[in-house]
Amino acid sequence: MLHATDRAENEFEDIYSGHLGRRSLPKLVIPDGPSDPRTVYALIRDELALDGNSSQNLATFCTTWTEPEVHRLMDDCVSKNMIDKDEYPQTAEIESRCVHILANLWHSPSGARTIGCSTTGSSEAAMLAGLALKWRWRKRHGTGRPNLVCGPVQVCWEKFARYFDVELRQVPLRPGATGLRPEQLRAHVDENTIGVVAILGVTFTCDYEPVAELAAELDAIQADTGLDIPLHIDAASGGFIAPFVQPDLEWDFRIPRVASINSSGHKYGLAPLGVGWVVWRSADLLPEELIFRVDYLGGEMPTFALNFSRPAGEIVAQYYNFLRLGREGYTAIQRVCLDTAAHLAGQIERMGPFTLLYDGEGGLPAVCYTTTDDAGFSLYDLSLQLRIKGWQVPAYPLPPDRQETVVQRVLVRHGISRDVISLLAQDIRWGVEQLIGAPAKRPHVSFHH
Ligand SMILES: *Cc1c(COP(=O)(O)O)cnc(C)c1O
Repeated sequence: MLHATDRAENEFEDIYSGHLGRRSLPKLVIPDGPSDPRTVYALIRDELALDGNSSQNLATFCTTWTEPEVHRLMDDCVSKNMIDKDEYPQTAEIESRCVHILANLWHSPSGARTIGCSTTGSSEAAMLAGLALKWRWRKRHGTGRPNLVCGPVQVCWEKFARYFDVELRQVPLRPGATGLRPEQLRAHVDENTIGVVAILGVTFTCDYEPVAELAAELDAIQADTGLDIPLHIDAASGGFIAPFVQPDLEWDFRIPRVASINSSGHKYGLAPLGVGWVVWRSADLLPEELIFRVDYLGGEMPTFALNFSRPAGEIVAQYYNFLRLGREGYTAIQRVCLDTAAHLAGQIERMGPFTLLYDGEGGLPAVCYTTTDDAGFSLYDLSLQLRIKGWQVPAYPLPPDRQETVVQRVLVRHGISRDVISLLAQDIRWGVEQLIGAPAKRPHVSFHH
C-alpha cells in the first residue's frame, strides 16, 4: 500500500479535487505535510489573479511590463545576494557601472569622484541621502534640532524625519501652486536646516518643482545670511524622464548646489520592482562615519545601506535596460508615454466637467485633473465607477493648504498603449454619465412577492 506522501510524489493529483484544492487553504498555521508543487502553484496563482490587473493600474509609477530577457536574468540571479560583493564581484561591478552611468546621465562634474549605491527603492535612497545631510549638518553645528525643508513630498520623507528625529518643515502649497516655490524658502530655512528637498515629479500632480529657481534662491539666501544649505533632488520618477526628453532642463549636478539625487530604477528606470539609486555629487558629501566596512564575507567591502541581504536581479536588470535601450531607446519610450498622456489630457479637457492641473507637458507622462465647480459629481465616486470597469485611478485631496481640491491622477508607463488609454477615456465618459445623467438608463430592479 502506498502512503499519501508517496502517492503525491508519484502521481499528479487533480488541482481542485486533491487534498489541498478541495478545502480552503491554510491561513494561520503551517500545514503538517508537503503538497504537490504544481497544485500549490496553481492554487496560489488563482488567488493572485484576484489582485487588480496591473495593466489597468494607472495609479502606480512602477514597472508593470518587462521583456522576457529581464525575466530570464531575474531567474538567473535568484540565488545571488547583492551584499556578498566578494562572492559575486561581477554583480558588484554591474551595480557600480549603473551608479556611474546615472552619475553621468545626471551630469556629475567628475565621474570618478562620484559616489552612490543601489537601494530597494527611492524610500531607502531618501533615508540614506537624508542621513548624509544630517551628519554633515552635525559636523557644522552639532546643536539644536535639525530640520529639513520641502514642499509636498512623498511619505518617505515624512518617515525619514520621524525615524531619524528631524523636523520636517513641509511648506504649505500656495493657492494655484502644486509644489514648493522659491519665494517661500526664506521664511522656513535657518542655521539648523540640514537641506532642502526639491521634487522632480511631484507625487500628487506629476509636474516638476522649479529646481534651478529654488537653487538660485538658496544662493541668494547664502549671500545675504551666510547659510549654505544643500539641495537634494528627489527624482524618483523624473530622474529617468528628464535626461532623455528634456536634456536641456537643468535640475541635476549641473547646478552646483545639488548635493545628491535619488531615483527609482523600478519606476521610469524600467527595471523590475526592488531597485532605487542614490548618487552624491562627490565622495566628500557622504560622511565616512556612515560607511560600514564588513570583512566577514571575505574581502573588505564598504557598504552604505539600511538593508543587508538583498536580491541582485533588479540591479542586473537595470544594467540590461541601459544596454538594451541606450539613450535612444529610453528617449523613444518616454516620449511615446508623454504623447499618450498629452492625448489623454486633451480628451479629458474636452469632456467638460474637468479642469486639468497637469496636462502631461513638461513633467512626468501623466495627467492630473480636478472637477469644475458645477460638475455635479465627486472624483471619489468616479473612481468607484472606473473600478467597475477594472481601472485603478485614485482620487485624493492635494496636500495642505489646498486640501479642498480633490484630484485624480493617471500615470502612463511603458506598456500602457494609446489604445488602452483611449478605452480608459471612453470609460471615464461612461462613468460621468452614470453619475450625472440618464437616470432612465439605470437598471430598474423590482421585487415581486
Ligand atoms: C515613488 C516615490 C518615492 C518612493 O519611492 P519608492 O521607490 O517607491 O520607494 C519617493 N519620492 C517620490 C517623489 C516618489 O514618486
